[in-house]
Amino acid sequence: MSRFLSSKYSGLSPYVPGEQPRDRRYIKLNTNESPFPPGAKVTEAVKNETSSMNLYPDPDYKALREKLSALTGVAQDELIMTNGSDEILDLCFMAFCDSDTPAVFADITYGFYEVFSQINLLPYRKIPLRDDMSIDVKDYYYAKGTIFIANPNAPTGLLLTLSEIRDILEHNRKNVVVIDEAYIAFGGESAAELIGGYDNLVVTRTFSKSRSLAGGRIGFGIANKGLIDDLNRIRNSLNPYNLSRINAAAAIGAIEDNDYYLSNIEKIKAVREKTRAELIKEGFEVTDSKANFLFARTDRMGGKELYQKLREKGILVRHFDRDRIRDYIRITIGSEEQMDIFMDKIKEILD
Ligand code: PMP
Repeated sequence: MSRFLSSKYSGLSPYVPGEQPRDRRYIKLNTNESPFPPGAKVTEAVKNETSSMNLYPDPDYKALREKLSALTGVAQDELIMTNGSDEILDLCFMAFCDSDTPAVFADITYGFYEVFSQINLLPYRKIPLRDDMSIDVKDYYYAKGTIFIANPNAPTGLLLTLSEIRDILEHNRKNVVVIDEAYIAFGGESAAELIGGYDNLVVTRTFSKSRSLAGGRIGFGIANKGLIDDLNRIRNSLNPYNLSRINAAAAIGAIEDNDYYLSNIEKIKAVREKTRAELIKEGFEVTDSKANFLFARTDRMGGKELYQKLREKGILVRHFDRDRIRDYIRITIGSEEQMDIFMDKIKEILD
């Protein structure tokens, strides 16, 4: 830290992303990316866009919102495009929290919520998950703050039903509820259909996981027009060109290839269930994840040691050195071949 850094940020603990290794080739099951490459329409759209890169993109991303509106069934003015869903989440912290309105989120959830609270100098409150890692919706009644819930939750993969989300909304009419649906495509029911009935709901989504575009940085928010206007007020004060022409073109390509991604999602779900069953057979405790990852622990070895031994064998998973989840590893679902190798290595290590 230099002596010039603003005192505002001296206490900040930045988000620690999963490793993107350069030292050797790993089977990479650590950052919840898709094992499938983007579809052909993405490559084509990106290639066509390069010759226009001397021009700024459309700051309203009209063509993209039109496509996304048709895909999601949400009106165009109920959509906002962002640079990954991390950006829409940050905009929500900026727009809907302040010194009297803390951010409220689970003790075990996406690590960026705490970082966004800190960088925006916001108070925040953590609500512990139950012992089985599930969320008790009653803990969120009358939260007196802006609620952030990842659904499915990360890194547990556990899902709340639509009626549980509705229950939380009903009991929080006076504050905003943000549902982070980064992983919803892998088995959940989206809360997007509730925005008509709840003027306090923001749903955030991403192209990073189910649409194979983690490197593309494309996310979006869904909410009623009033909330979207608030979010745009901030977006337009920070960076109205928050998606490059290339990001926006890639997103359009990914929408046009919808069937390809839907079939990949089905494959990932099937491999998830197969891997889960195999891990359970090996004596693991595995949460009932509805995301593109599994969260697992075994009495036979600690989480950190298992992570390290897998790494030595060329497989990267994620370990969080944090209370309550230190024993666990989080395993992204890769291709069937990758998961077969993963299971072989697990058996080698534990035998
Ligand atoms: N929410 C959750 C729960 C996540 O795990 C992630 C991925 N790290 C994100 C949001 C952000 O993903 P992206 O910015 O790639 O859309």
